[in-house]
Amino acid sequence: MLVLVVNAGSSSLKSQLIQTEGKHVLMKCLAQKVGAPDATMTVSFAPGFQGETYGVAGLTVEECLVKLLDILATDPASPIGSLDEIDAVGNRLVAGGEYFTGATLIDDGARRHLAEVEELAPLHNPVADRCIDTVRRLLPDTPQVAVFDTAFHQTMPAKAYLYPLPMRYYDDYSIRRYGAHGTSHRYAAQQAANLLGRPLQDLGLITCHLGNGGSITAVNHGESIDTTMGFTPLEGLMMGTRSGSIDPAIITYIMRREGVPFDEMDRILNCESGVLGISGRSGDMRDVLEAAEAGDERSQLAIDMYVYRVQKAIGGFYAAMTRTDAVVMTAGIGENSAALRERIFSGLAHMGMILDKERNDVTGQIGVNRIISIDDSPIKICIVTADEEIRIARETADLVA
Ligand code: AMP
Repeated sequence: MLVLVVNAGSSSLKSQLIQTEGKHVLMKCLAQKVGAPDATMTVSFAPGFQGETYGVAGLTVEECLVKLLDILATDPASPIGSLDEIDAVGNRLVAGGEYFTGATLIDDGARRHLAEVEELAPLHNPVADRCIDTVRRLLPDTPQVAVFDTAFHQTMPAKAYLYPLPMRYYDDYSIRRYGAHGTSHRYAAQQAANLLGRPLQDLGLITCHLGNGGSITAVNHGESIDTTMGFTPLEGLMMGTRSGSIDPAIITYIMRREGVPFDEMDRILNCESGVLGISGRSGDMRDVLEAAEAGDERSQLAIDMYVYRVQKAIGGFYAAMTRTDAVVMTAGIGENSAALRERIFSGLAHMGMILDKERNDVTGQIGVNRIISIDDSPIKICIVTADEEIRIARETADLVA
């Protein structure tokens, strides 16, 4: 099936055209800094993927999608001659609330419910919804699917998803833990089961999505039973620019002390904190590792804090599960940073997670899922390569088929 994957962010658009049978990617598109004067959109086609970059200043994310569809329909290098050749469109949605418990075919009813959950991810969901409307307008006969970051976590029990607040906030506003990166955690768990050669239903896994954003999930018998991200993707681990969990009283204290308004406080917690806030240099782990290597003390402190918080989360979920067979590392940092994996697991050997240094250090195996613990480590450690677009395409194709 030929699936166009649309992954719309607040100021970005990622899209791929994927032939799902062979997992062949035929087109890649990345629009960045959308809304800014230097916004660009790069579109490239198989086999060479030599991209052409267009200036898209003044366009919204959904207007970038219109431009992409036009390029797909008219560019001589495009793998399709007409948009009718696209069998389905798979849309990534950040939040699905309690209503959406799995990937969903978008009809009028689903579209209405999408509007109702927009406020749960106000920066992301409305943009994705407008992209869905754009496709409905331009390709009215092409089935569309919404794939939710939150859906995988809908199996969490109430003791994990409720916050100890007055119950009326859950009753009136559905304030609860929703989690995120669900598609990634689900995929990482299934791939780890394949690596271990055992049915996912028999396993207890701790999946660690460590990228710019980061979350860790306890996956018991194939189901998410708890995760570090919460009502929004701000809770949990220390991230590139997000604080993760802090004492909530700090927020009201700063707001009172400095007269900081709500939106500004939101921005400080989401965009100025985390690894960037502590290092004072960058939220990008590669930059910070490099600076620490060169002797920058605050970068080293940021790394120490990052590692410590990941270790505590893994330890917490080890306690939450009745058995742990493997810890799975995925996403930019989890897959690529042997140094950080070594730091993280050097503190977890006493729990039976014993890294094999040589296997961990192997380079040149980018994109290959593999086990990096010693043979008789009681709990295995795996690396799974994340590929969000392929996963969305597969879920879309399964539902449409
Ligand atoms: P993602 O959000 O999954 O794209 O991950 C992005 C994060 O992964 C950034 O902080 C990158 O610096 C980090 N990253 C990517 N490659 C490496 C690497 N080789 N070593 C350390 N961090 C990396």
